[in-house]
Amino acid sequence: MTNTTSSTVDALRAALIGPVLEPGDPGYDRDRLIWNGAVGRTPSVVARCSSAADVAAALHWAGVAGVEVAVRGGGHGGWGAAVAEDGLTIDLGLMDHVLVDPEARRVRCGGGTSLGELDAACQEHGLAVTAGTVSHTGVGGLTLGGGFGWLVRMCGLTVDNLVSAEVVLVDGRCVRASADDHPDLFWALRGGGGNFGVVTEFEYALHEVARPCTSRCSSTGSTGPRRPSGWAARRWRGCRATPAAGSRA
Ligand SMILES: Cc1cc2nc3c(=O)[nH]c(=O)nc-3n(C[C@H](O)[C@H](O)[C@H](O)COP(=O)(O)OP(=O)(O)OC[C@H]3O[C@@H](n4cnc5c(N)ncnc54)[C@H](O)[C@@H]3O)c2cc1C
Repeated sequence: MTNTTSSTVDALRAALIGPVLEPGDPGYDRDRLIWNGAVGRTPSVVARCSSAADVAAALHWAGVAGVEVAVRGGGHGGWGAAVAEDGLTIDLGLMDHVLVDPEARRVRCGGGTSLGELDAACQEHGLAVTAGTVSHTGVGGLTLGGGFGWLVRMCGLTVDNLVSAEVVLVDGRCVRASADDHPDLFWALRGGGGNFGVVTEFEYALHEVARPCTSRCSSTGSTGPRRPSGWAARRWRGCRATPAAGSRA
């Protein structure tokens, strides 16, 4: 039983910069569906957060209203954990910034970034994060679950290359977890799945790739374009990665 009257939803709207959607609003149905179209849950509210402060405000609101919370990264978790039935879905899709530091071989990206967006920005510099194989997968769920893809044999799992993460905790605090700061939380994030907080930014180590190789879809669910079987594998065959110093060979 939830407590989301129009006045409590108005309070959420007032607290957030990003839009707040209810059933019937434009965009609501897009946010309640996941990649495979197999889960038809109906959240009472979707908060399209634009910053860590928005996420903290949404979590606070959910605590006061007593509603369940789900976090939507790229919406590719086939079991539907990104959508809360009758609760609050925190959609991170607006948080898709990608900041590449080619000198330091590091990249920071928002918690709702897709692999395609991450790849495109990194490959401007001949660099790549070791991640998944399909461009519209979210970095969020993929990283928190471990993350493997085309570069795994040379560069390891995505979590092996996670340098730090900005996390909004359930009490609203925003912390940066790394090997030195909040190391227990960092350990949990590296493969432990969701529910340790909302990751609003990931920082990864980058690896050199010999020439552009973008992760693209080789098969899709309900929302993406369809490619012939084996298309992505053929594209990959022409690409090589050069492991950076200190990475696995
Ligand atoms: C077509 C397809 C191809 C795939 N290919 C690969 C692959 O090559 N390699 C691989 O490792 N995996 C792959 N996967 C699996 C994929 O990594 C997982 O399904 C992953 O959960 C998707 O992440 P998402 O953010 O898109 O999903 P979502 O459904 O949005 O989220 C999944 C879970 O992660 C949590 N979550 C997401 N983002 C955050 C965040 N920023 N902070 C806190 N919690 C968050 C959600 O709450 C939810 O519990 C693939 C999946 C599909 C459907």
